[in-house]
Amino acid sequence: MYKYCLECGWQVSTSDDLTEREASKMAIEHFVETGHAVESLRLPPPVVLEEYRRR
Ligand SMILES: [Zn+2]
Repeated sequence: MYKYCLECGWQVSTSDDLTEREASKMAIEHFVETGHAVESLRLPPPVVLEEYRRR
């Protein structure tokens, strides 16, 4: 699972070192600090950005 900010490019992805819970916490912290809404996504950010540009 990726969490990705479409406004500034901030991103985090869950891995062996980072649990879903920790990633969620980081996403919330990013929102609190910047006011940016962070999307939760199953695709890697470059793929998501391509989809975003097509709209
Ligand atoms: Zn952001």
